[in-house]
Amino acid sequence: MIMPIASATELTRLKGVGPKMAERFARLGIDSVEQLLFHLPLRYEDRTRVTPLGALRAGMHAVIQGEVQLSEIKFARRRMLLVRLSDRTGFITLRFFHFNARQQENLARGNRVRAYGEVRRGSGGLEMVHPEFSVIETDAAPVAETGLTPVYPTTEGLHQLTLRNALQQALALLRTDRLSLPELLPAGLLAADELPDLKQALLFVHQPPPETDLDELLEARHPVMQRLILEDLLAHVLSLRQLRQRSRTHQARPLSIRSELGDRFLRALPFALTAAQQRVVAEIETDLGQAVPMQRLVQGDVGSGKTVVAALAALAAVASGCQAAIMAPTEILAEQHYHNFAAWLAPLGIEVAWLSGKAKQGERRAAGEALASGQAAVAVGTHALFQEAIQFRDLALVIIDEQHRFGVHQRLALREKGRRDDDVLPHQLIMTATPIPRTLSMAVYADLDCSVIDELPPGRQPVETVVLPDSRRDDVVERVHRACQQGNQVYWVCTLIEESEALQCQAAEETARLLQAALPDVRVGLVHGRLKAPDKEAIMARFKAGELDLLVATTVIEVGVDVPNAGLMIIENAERLGLAQLHQLRGRVGRGGQASVCVLMYHGALSANARERLAVMRNSNDGFEIARKDMELRGPGEVLGTRQTGLLQLKIADLQRDEALMPKVVSLSDQLLKQYPGAVQPLIQRWVGQAVRYGSV
Ligand code: ADP
Ligand code: MG
Repeated sequence: MIMPIASATELTRLKGVGPKMAERFARLGIDSVEQLLFHLPLRYEDRTRVTPLGALRAGMHAVIQGEVQLSEIKFARRRMLLVRLSDRTGFITLRFFHFNARQQENLARGNRVRAYGEVRRGSGGLEMVHPEFSVIETDAAPVAETGLTPVYPTTEGLHQLTLRNALQQALALLRTDRLSLPELLPAGLLAADELPDLKQALLFVHQPPPETDLDELLEARHPVMQRLILEDLLAHVLSLRQLRQRSRTHQARPLSIRSELGDRFLRALPFALTAAQQRVVAEIETDLGQAVPMQRLVQGDVGSGKTVVAALAALAAVASGCQAAIMAPTEILAEQHYHNFAAWLAPLGIEVAWLSGKAKQGERRAAGEALASGQAAVAVGTHALFQEAIQFRDLALVIIDEQHRFGVHQRLALREKGRRDDDVLPHQLIMTATPIPRTLSMAVYADLDCSVIDELPPGRQPVETVVLPDSRRDDVVERVHRACQQGNQVYWVCTLIEESEALQCQAAEETARLLQAALPDVRVGLVHGRLKAPDKEAIMARFKAGELDLLVATTVIEVGVDVPNAGLMIIENAERLGLAQLHQLRGRVGRGGQASVCVLMYHGALSANARERLAVMRNSNDGFEIARKDMELRGPGEVLGTRQTGLLQLKIADLQRDEALMPKVVSLSDQLLKQYPGAVQPLIQRWVGQAVRYGSV
């Protein structure tokens, strides 16, 4: 439920902001004067002092002054006015393409001129193009600005000066306490860390005094920025924790993992669970035994064996006479799960229903009926599972694989699907192979309990990773040939420069054709996103059965595909992929105990950044380590996909830059929930606002 901000001040109260302009502000996410104050400067211009010409450097924004030595109209490609200005320390050229007679007069030789603009390197030394300027009587004329001038991020149709002007009015209202912007952090907490209060902090960032260390401010190390960032992070963590608290007010069906079914399942497995799997299963067991819905995230590196853990949880539901649903983000992954679950559960007499968007109507109807009647105790599928008019007889557990592909909203919507009339909600188990550092998971997954499978099954060989330019393609093809002749199976992954799926599929087709021509004795298969589901499934099944030696694929095989006999993977254009994605792909090999190799081929010259990223892949097989590096190089938003899912839309904070604040944020959130519960909702409202809708939760 979203409460409107109690007494938010309408933007149109500001001079110069009419309804039209207010719409443009809204595009920046600003819909009240209070919100406007959280729109922070990108940078600051120092117009408080004059920089001697001799001290100018290209790239600076500066106030300059001097005497006009030369003023002439030139016709190069265009007509322009060139003005040479000098002081005792140096000179600069002012260049104008548009000017009127009056301006030309003001810039006449012998006049003293003061100008403001960006210094650039021109053909004849430093210059300013179209600076703001005025004629001055003496060099001692006072500068107009007494503080640093903020420059704001803006949008089309919203001029910098309009924004600045609106902010100035907002700041005046703030200064005189005419806005509803209460301090929400307890005074004691602020004092303990010597942090400024909200009003002070906002006045400061918008109008820093001239002596301010701007780098410290812009890089968010300054106490006023730390204070604002802290509040931003705190509000987001609180919003997620509130979600969790609310979910704990619901009922769930207690389930028991220790069952005859579970024991039979474990006995039939060709391996024993690792200690890490056992620990995580025990954690899940404790949760499932409660009468409140479990909300647990299992993080485990690629190949750590999350599926078996999920199967045990599903069996707990089945043994208690209820149903479990497993949802995966892609068709291929869902299919893979379906095959695993069907193979594991059929011998126990459990029917598994298959539901995907691409399944035939008849199949879907049959699956739907089996779930509605309870004849099928387990359902596996894509999100089609929950979008369809599928009714479960008694859904008690929802398992979501590869959480980072789904947003918090989808997760909640899913849980709603299992809500029963008597308000009993299903338990939720979420699995991800993108492990993230603990401090980050505190923020991103604050609404979940976390378990980590921090151990791989025994006998895994680390995958040896080789980085090669694609000019060595012939050698690589030869290597593929040798591997196939030795009975090994090989993946060849085509990734593409272009975003288009169609082009990517085309490239994969072309590659498969070329490889087949080059290696006539090798059995080549091809899968990509545009194949019909049954065709794709048939190819995957043949590869899995060893009837194909070489599988050419797009990144559709990124997650979940499990063919233990595959020991070589070639990835084309590896430099274009994120590290987390490369790690996922590479995780398809090294599953069978044989020494495996992954060849990362790159195209053209590598940038320093790309070289560094590929080196990370060569040097590490550890998902945590790789995820950390990936976040360093690309930022957490990209890596976690939160940008797309709107999971954490922070206003000011940057998860990566401000990671060090997280432990403090978490302990503050504890304290607020316990001692100052009244501040929680207003904080969430202020910072998260409409970004997260809790709707029916
Ligand atoms: P992921 O965590 O990437 O989803 P999977 O669940 O697909 O990993 O497991 C990868 C492979 O490891 C599968 O072939 C699975 O059967 C096998 N596996 C899982 N647990 C163990 C174990 N304890 N010992 C040996 N192999 C295991
Ligand atoms: Mg998996």
